Amino acid sequence: DLALSIRGLRKAYASGTEALKAVDLDIRHGEIFALLGPNGAGKTTLISIVCGLVTATEGTVLVDGKHWRDDYRHARTRIGLVPQELNTDQFEPVWNTVAFSRELFGKPKDDARVEEILRSLTLWDKRKNIIKDLSGGMKRRVMIAKALAHEPDILFLDEPTAGVDVELRKEMWALVRTLRERGVTIILTTHYIEEAEEMADRVGVINRGELILVENKTTLMKKL
Ligand code: ADP
Ligand code: ADP
Repeated sequence: DLALSIRGLRKAYASGTEALKAVDLDIRHGEIFALLGPNGAGKTTLISIVCGLVTATEGTVLVDGKHWRDDYRHARTRIGLVPQELNTDQFEPVWNTVAFSRELFGKPKDDARVEEILRSLTLWDKRKNIIKDLSGGMKRRVMIAKALAHEPDILFLDEPTAGVDVELRKEMWALVRTLRERGVTIILTTHYIEEAEEMADRVGVINRGELILVENKTTLMKKL
């Protein structure tokens, strides 16, 4: 019973760069999986393919056992993505951003659900605030709320703590754990080994497009 099953995934960009070389990866329901690797390793490419933003050169992706290509709509509604860069209209209030994102996914209007998402991320008091006026931490929370607006059960977080201070990093870690407690499967990318060790149930080390799975985190240090 897998949330995600990836086989032989390869990506060669038009530039000739082989960003992924035959990657196999299974993600269990409810786990936190960290994709650990340096810049340029292929982390964003992998996430982008699974989220449907980039096409693979070769390989298959199954979401809940269904072939991505056969049931694109299913895959899309099951997946949420928090990208590295702010992906919201800075001049919109928090509430509208989340409610509109739900609409885009064809979800029925449900103010109670939007409220629940905002409360769960301690954004309720900020719901009328314009995003650009929020702190960095609150902006990241809005990005997560936006990604959760259509109630996906697999959440991708691309470098959730890149360039944030220690305090905010700890806050993000706590937040990710809360999401998991609510049953969300989480796949995050990071280039911090401490973050992979601290957060994840399992770690995949990726380098130059090749993935080495690390089932047991205590062996992580030895592998690197
Ligand atoms: P695809 O094979 O997915 O169509 P392309 O190689 O055509 O991708 O590139 C898509 C876009 O990304 C182009 O606009 C290209 O200029 C840009 N791009 C090229 N190299 C890089 C890079 N190293 N990192 C990020 N973007 C790049
Ligand atoms: P990471 O997220 O681990 O930093 P990426 O997936 O962004 O790695 O990049 C993997 C490799 O693919 C790098 O060599 C990068 O320069 C290249 N790359 C990424 N996007 C593009 C693109 N659109 N066009 C061409 N090359 C790209």
